Amino acid sequence: MANKKRAFITGISGQDGSYLTEFLLDKGYEVAGLMRRNAVSELGNISKIREEIKLYYGDLQSPESIALALYDFKPDEIYNLASMSSPLGSFMDRVGSIMITGVGALHVFDRAKQIVPEAKVYQASTSEMFGAPTQIPQNEQTPLAPANPYAAAKEYAHRMAIISRKDSKQPQFIACGILFNHESPRRGLNFVTRKISAAVACIKNGKTHEVPLNEIGDPIVKNGKLTLGDLDAKRDWGYAPDYIKAMWLMLQQERADDFVIATGEIHTVREFVEEAFAVVGLNWKDYVQTNASFIPPVQTGPLLGDPAKAKKVLNWEAETKFKELVKIMVHSDLAKFS
Ligand code: NAP
Repeated sequence: MANKKRAFITGISGQDGSYLTEFLLDKGYEVAGLMRRNAVSELGNISKIREEIKLYYGDLQSPESIALALYDFKPDEIYNLASMSSPLGSFMDRVGSIMITGVGALHVFDRAKQIVPEAKVYQASTSEMFGAPTQIPQNEQTPLAPANPYAAAKEYAHRMAIISRKDSKQPQFIACGILFNHESPRRGLNFVTRKISAAVACIKNGKTHEVPLNEIGDPIVKNGKLTLGDLDAKRDWGYAPDYIKAMWLMLQQERADDFVIATGEIHTVREFVEEAFAVVGLNWKDYVQTNASFIPPVQTGPLLGDPAKAKKVLNWEAETKFKELVKIMVHSDLAKFS
């Protein structure tokens, strides 16, 4: 029997890491991941598949922990998904952002080059790198102009990936997915879409105890209201399980490249709110208030992706569109927060 392909995922317990793991296990891969050790040993999104994967405890800030895992597991494919992934939160820890999201990625590239030079690497780049672009929609040629510490750190990692790819002495296969926002029931509660779907569920179910907390430690529904930042912010929102397929496809190519992954549709936060409350037959205007403290000090967007290259080269297209995505998230949270 042919040897199974081996994939190593940093950030394996996150939204994308967990969906990617399930996808690769289905394809017959052996999967291992790097995960930070937490005091309560919670596995979150990967608890149901723990027996099917290998876990290495480590941190992107510790090149030694990355090296030990790579020496032991010897992957064919590496997906670098670990990062401090909240753009708003990154203003509160600017140094942490560059150390984990920027320099941490470089540690992965460099250890991979030393230990498994033939391995193909995927780097999780982001549409946030475009900042507040004047070119709409954005594609692989749109200039990068990050507007938050998270995006600046991602730009550093993105540039280092391209430099490593072009190295004439020892070129490395590092593909960069410039992914636009993608959401799911596994999205963290500090992201606006999940905050909305969870709040709708708590309100509809009349849940007043053990209401989940937002990024500043307050219940997401307080005195019957959900508090949000800029309702006019515009994003291109897709469904995470669609997007992880694109990551895998990028590593099945002969040549490493950059790809914009997006739905090609733009919506405001207001539209998301309206749609989510409509799923349960409520009028959002009765339950939503705004507070400027949820608006980042430097604004990003409008972000709208042009996924034409991904369609042409990878034959990839977003299957789940906006309304369906909102429905999936609200229905999942209705069951979760009952
Ligand atoms: P996520 O759910 O926040 O997952 C991030 C993962 O990184 C978590 O498992 C987290 O572990 C881990 N991590 C954080 N700091 C780490 C460190 N120092 N060492 C090791 N692991 C660390 O993010 P996601 O939505 O799955 O996104 C995956 C990647 O794609 C991220 O790099 C993100 O920035 C990027 N991206 C996401 C989107 C999107 O819309 N979702 C769009 C573009 C790009 P802990 O549980 O220990 O914190």
